[in-house]
Amino acid sequence: MRAMVYGGRTKHIIAYPIAGGTIINFVGFYTVSGAYESLTPYPGKWMRDVSVERIKKCYEGFEEEVQGLVQCIRTATARRIHILGDVPNYAVDRAAILGDAAHAMETNFGASAGQAMEARLERNGTRVTLNPFLLQDAYYLGRLLAHPLTTLDGADGTTDVATALKIYEHTRLDFSNTIVHNARAVGQTYDFDNAMGPPPDFLARLRKGEDREAKEWLEKWRGNLNKLWAFQWDTEAIDRDWATTEELLKKAAGGQ
Ligand SMILES: Cc1cc2nc3c(=O)[nH]c(=O)nc-3n(C[C@H](O)[C@H](O)[C@H](O)COP(=O)(O)OP(=O)(O)OC[C@H]3O[C@@H](n4cnc5c(N)ncnc54)[C@H](O)[C@@H]3O)c2cc1C
Repeated sequence: MRAMVYGGRTKHIIAYPIAGGTIINFVGFYTVSGAYESLTPYPGKWMRDVSVERIKKCYEGFEEEVQGLVQCIRTATARRIHILGDVPNYAVDRAAILGDAAHAMETNFGASAGQAMEARLERNGTRVTLNPFLLQDAYYLGRLLAHPLTTLDGADGTTDVATALKIYEHTRLDFSNTIVHNARAVGQTYDFDNAMGPPPDFLARLRKGEDREAKEWLEKWRGNLNKLWAFQWDTEAIDRDWATTEELLKKAAGGQ
């Protein structure tokens, strides 16, 4: 059993096994036209139960495999996904934000394959999974604030807390804002939006196996997604970025 993404216009589904393969987590997305562009919070309840009938109706026309999954659903919850735009600052004086307060994003990097990239801690036999973005924010913040070159007042060749927080912002702000945009672009690609709609009769043509246009489109679609996901495979980025961050801290403390 493996994670699957089923794409469709304005809708996609992410399904993956959990609980040792005994349960399939079915996450169905439905993009409300104009909701993102309106830049306003959803006025109704952000979370509520929905009937299985409604789910069936939503994914009518998807392939047989999806219909099979939908038949297995017993209960379902609908959630509105709220995201942030380009946040201008993560730190002001001695206050800083991290996590969703800084970069709430569409969940497209978090579910399915993303699960495998999350840090896992074993505590008293309980498995705890942590959001990689939260972990990374906390990693830089923790190392900066605990650094011997950071002190409350920045005296004697050290740097003060406000400057250390600005360095955290420097490391995280542009990167995280880009990831917020990319998470949306991944969803749009799954939804065949952002000029990534397949050519007419795509599936039938692809199944025949000889259609060049269909194959080329699939390669382009796949390449687009690979580029958006690429940052997740760069396991050395965190060490590289820490080295740069520490250099900034040393400079701010008066070192070369
Ligand atoms: C449907 C869905 C699926 C998701 N799936 C995944 C996934 O598979 N993998 C993944 O990595 N991420 C996933 N996420 C995202 C993940 O849940 C968030 O990124 C993460 O919970 C953010 O943590 P946080 O601590 O920044 O914010 P939160 O978890 O929102 O915590 C903020 C806390 O602050 C409290 N609070 C708010 N205001 C105040 C106040 N004034 N005073 C005191 N306390 C306050 C809130 O009650 C809350 O407990 C998903 C999110 C959604 C909605």
